Order: sequence, then C-alpha cells, then structure tokens
Amino acid sequence: MCYAIPGEVVGLEGSRVVVDFLGDRRRVALVDPDGPAVGDFVYAQGGVVVSTVPRPAARRILAAWREALVELDRLDEAMVAAGIVAGTALDPLLDRAEAGEPLGRDDLARLLAPRDAVERRALRATGNRVRRRAAGNAACVHGIVAIGSRCVNDCAYCGLRAGNRELARYRLTHDEVLAAAVAAVDGLGFRALVLQAGEDPGWSTDELADLVREVRGRCQALVVVSLGAREPTCLDELHAAGARGLLLRFETSDPSLYAALHRGPKADREARLAALRRAKALGWVVATGSLVGLPGQTAAHVADDLLLARALGADMVTLGPFVPHPRTPLATAAPAGLDLALDAMAAARLLCPRVAIPVTTALERLAPDAGRDGLLAGANSLMVDVTPTPYRARYDLYPGRDAGDARADAAAAAALLRSLGRAPTDLGRS
Ligand code: SAH
Ligand code: SF4
Repeated sequence: MCYAIPGEVVGLEGSRVVVDFLGDRRRVALVDPDGPAVGDFVYAQGGVVVSTVPRPAARRILAAWREALVELDRLDEAMVAAGIVAGTALDPLLDRAEAGEPLGRDDLARLLAPRDAVERRALRATGNRVRRRAAGNAACVHGIVAIGSRCVNDCAYCGLRAGNRELARYRLTHDEVLAAAVAAVDGLGFRALVLQAGEDPGWSTDELADLVREVRGRCQALVVVSLGAREPTCLDELHAAGARGLLLRFETSDPSLYAALHRGPKADREARLAALRRAKALGWVVATGSLVGLPGQTAAHVADDLLLARALGADMVTLGPFVPHPRTPLATAAPAGLDLALDAMAAARLLCPRVAIPVTTALERLAPDAGRDGLLAGANSLMVDVTPTPYRARYDLYPGRDAGDARADAAAAAALLRSLGRAPTDLGRS
C-alpha cells in the first residue's frame, strides 16, 4: 500500500523544485535545504517534498502504477458522469459556481439549505465534478497519531474537555510516538502524519520540537501538528524541527457562538487565528475549518465559516459534523445531520475548487457509507487513525471512536479510494 507516487525532479528553483508526476508538473517545496538534484525521484505530500526515492525503485513503482492510474482515472470520470443531476432550481447557482464566478455569503447559505433531496444530489454531484476538474482524481491519506488526551480547555462539545473527570488521560512517550509513526510510514505506506493532542502545556515547545525532529529524522513523511493554538514562536521552533503543516480548526467563525462554546486558558479565538496566520506565513500546509451542526449554528454561520477558511488561505478545508458526547454540557443536543455535513463539503468544494477536503473521522461515524458519500460530494482526502490501539478509545473526542486497528482502517481507506477511481497521487499545491 502506498499513499503517494514518485515524481521526477526536472528543475530547481531555490527552496522549491519542479517535479514531473507522469506528465503533470508541479512546484514543490523542500523541507531540507540540501534537497534532491535534477533527475532524482521524490515523494511529495501537500506540495512538500517528503523524501527522495532511489531511481530503480521509483521506476519500478511507476511502472506498476501506470496502467492502474489510467484505469482509476476512467472509473472516476464515469462516476462523475453518473452523478449528474439537472433541472433543479439550484441550476443557475451551480452553473455560476462551475463557471468559476465568485460565490457570496447568500449564495453559500442557499447551497447549504437545499429544498429537497434532488437539489442535494445536484449540489453534491457538482461538488464532485468541480473536484475532478480542479484536482483530477488525486487523493491524499493522512495518518493521525493522537499523542495525548490531556487538555486544559473546556470546549462545550468535546469529550477531552478538562471538565470530563471520568476520562483516563494519557500522554504517549517519545518512543511510543516514534513506534506509531514508523509503523504508519514504513509499515502502512503513509506519507503524511498528523501529531494531535488536547491543549496540553505539559508538552513544552522544546519537547515538541524534539519529538518532531525525531519523527522527521526517522520517517520520510510530511509532519503536520494539531496541538491546539500553540503560540507563533512555538510554531517557528517546530518549523526548524521539520514540521510543515498545521491542522487547527477555528471551530466557528461567529465570535458570539465561539464565545458561548469555548472556555479555558487556551481557548482564545484570536490565538487560534494568529497560529493559522503564522503557519501560512511559514509556508506550511494549512488545514482549517469548522464544526458543522453545532447547536445555535445557522446556514449563514456555516457560509461564513467557508469564507473564513478561504480568507485564511486554507490548503485543506476540514468540516467536521458535531457529535454529542455524553459527558459534556451538549450531551443532549441534536447531532449534526449527515446531509448538512455533506452539503457543507460540497459547498466548500464550489467555493475553493483546488483545496484538499477530507472525509473526517467524525463524518465516517455518522453512517456506514458516509466516507463514500463525502468523496462523491467533493472530498478528496481521508484521515486514518494510526494511534496505538490501547490508546485509541481513550482519545475520546466524541462517541463512536472504537478501539479498531490502524492496519485494517488503512486497508479500508485504500479500498474505498480504489472503488471510486481515486489515486493516491496527492501532489498538493501547484
Ligand atoms: N486540541 C486540539 C486538537 C484536538 S481536538 C484542538 O482543539 O485543535 C480536534 C478536533 O476535534 C477539534 O478541532 C474539534 O473540531 C473536534 N471535535 C471535538 N469534539 C467534537 C465533537 N463532539 N464532535 C465532533 N468533533 C469534535
Ligand atoms: Fe481540548 Fe481540542 Fe477538545 Fe477543545 S477541542 S477540549 S482544545 S481537545
């Protein structure tokens, strides 16, 4: 299993290289200054070179993939065509979106409030078509290692909130993190890893930098951090250690709704936005977005969320459905509907054609086919939990996170992508 295909370096441009991926040329950033030479083969993720690949191995891998990639592309084309729905009242708006005309708040709010199932199908099919036109059938798969469940914040929706005193907390040792990372990269073929945790000042900047350096030193993968709103100076240290991505939702763009849901010493909205801006300034892969289906949230709020994600320069727009957790103040709130979650992903695709849009792990828990539905509504990325099994269930953000197995989940992710004609050729930003 392999979640990237090698490309050949055909040009050098300072801190970037031009890479040819079977005829598709992209500019890709280097993490290490003494990077590859022209003629070398590399793996890239999210627009960042993560490793070089010995030429004979690269040629072998490409030969093995070449035919399969053509087949996958045909299947994707056929699935996009099969989804087409025309003749709804949404058509003029969908046509404008497809033509690349700018969408405003009211347009997005209208997309997020379809009047019936046929409009929904039309919206999602258009999301899928725009995804294919803008980004082809490329997909990326990220492995998430939940490195700790301690949290000083009290977000009203989250099972890791400090106020949930029944949760058995953990912090992985460096060796445990490294073992999980190596198993995911060397054992399962991941090329992008997310190190995630609660807001835990117990992880000092120095310790996190050491951890990132160790993971980068041992694993040829893009390292993305998702550790809450670490201060900009911390992000600078993590950059020096080799991190090149930030996964941090602003959760909701609406200041009043944010204030109503977030408490705690590290829950400041501005600090989240500052971290996102710093990551962008560092040239990182920036993944951000919101929860959808929160109590009190309207279609106009979600429209604003999409606009904020775009304004922040998101490379990945991540939209997670709210799932009530029994040991939070929102225990009895209504869960997000699958329809809203899928419509939001499709609208995000129309607003930001070229970004990565993941099927979140929360979405997959809403229904057995939710991952497939998400990919057919415009998503092009999957998240797989590669946390060591004994800790998975203890990373209790929301109910339904079972104690499954990374290998089985990775295999299921690869099979799902294949069944829809998607190729693990994430090339990231152009
Ligand atoms: N502490 C870090 C990272 C871990 S939380 C942070 O807050 O950024 C990761 C994500 O889990 C959050 O961004 C939030 O959107 C999501 N999450 C938390 N509780 C949830 C719930 N009940 N339903 C769905 N998603 C939830
Ligand atoms: Fe902590 Fe993140 Fe959960 Fe908020 S969402 S309680 S910061 S883990």
